[in-house]
Amino acid sequence: MRYRGRIAPTPTGDLHVGHARTFVSAWRRAEAAHGELVLRIEDLDPLRCRLEYTERAIEDLEWLGVRWTEGPVHQSRRRDVYESVWRRLRDAGVIYACTASRREVRDAAHAPHDDEEGTEPIFPPELRPALGAGRDAASPAGVVWRFRVPDGEVMRFSDARHGAQRFVAGVDFGDFVVWRKDDVPAYELAVVADDVAMGITEVVRGEDLLRSTARQLLIYRALGATPPAWCHLPLVRDAHGRRLAKRHDALSVRELRARGLTPEEVLASGSDGDARRASA
Ligand code: GLU
Repeated sequence: MRYRGRIAPTPTGDLHVGHARTFVSAWRRAEAAHGELVLRIEDLDPLRCRLEYTERAIEDLEWLGVRWTEGPVHQSRRRDVYESVWRRLRDAGVIYACTASRREVRDAAHAPHDDEEGTEPIFPPELRPALGAGRDAASPAGVVWRFRVPDGEVMRFSDARHGAQRFVAGVDFGDFVVWRKDDVPAYELAVVADDVAMGITEVVRGEDLLRSTARQLLIYRALGATPPAWCHLPLVRDAHGRRLAKRHDALSVRELRARGLTPEEVLASGSDGDARRASA
């Protein structure tokens, strides 16, 4: 099978060193496999995404030397793909319309078993509606849709960087959102819908999404689709161990570039406190 990878920036801000490393690695893996690489712009959130950031991301990627064979493909223009996946999940009975208010969810939510960065509170199972709720909905609009996770099931997968992975449904993650109340397809649904439709054979992305992979495997299974291979890369941290993505002042590729750094220097600048040095 021919290798097909993808790079998937979200245009809510400028690319930083962490993104640069992930996308360059994804490109190198596709090149090494003589495969294809799709550039997918994850611009579903109309309030947070801006066209200007898409243009700047493309320019930064080109400057870094990343080359793709397809795209840019904009998620904001693929609503029909996501709606058809929503319909299939609805018909399979694995998702439901969640009418619990934000407050009810917050008050009853369980803390995840660890407090690692990026973990969300577990959706309280007692707020689940009866089986079959929402099955006759004609459209996803107007209400939050969640995936009913099989409590206690161990989700396993193998990762090219991290080896064997294991997450327990209902413990490490709970019923997750597949469609937002503001009628925007949620990340987990859109990514799987696209990775399946685009025939992606390996997903290369940051290790903050390892847990999401466990959720996404449930969607693959419900769709009867074969999951790709996975490769989750270490996140770039600053000298204090904080993730760059979490910092508002994280150095963008274009700032480093404006300071005269070469692509090689930008890619090297995230490690061992160099990010701080570069920003000094
Ligand atoms: N758009 C996501 C991000 O920028 C990447 C999602 C993915 O690769 O699955 O973090």
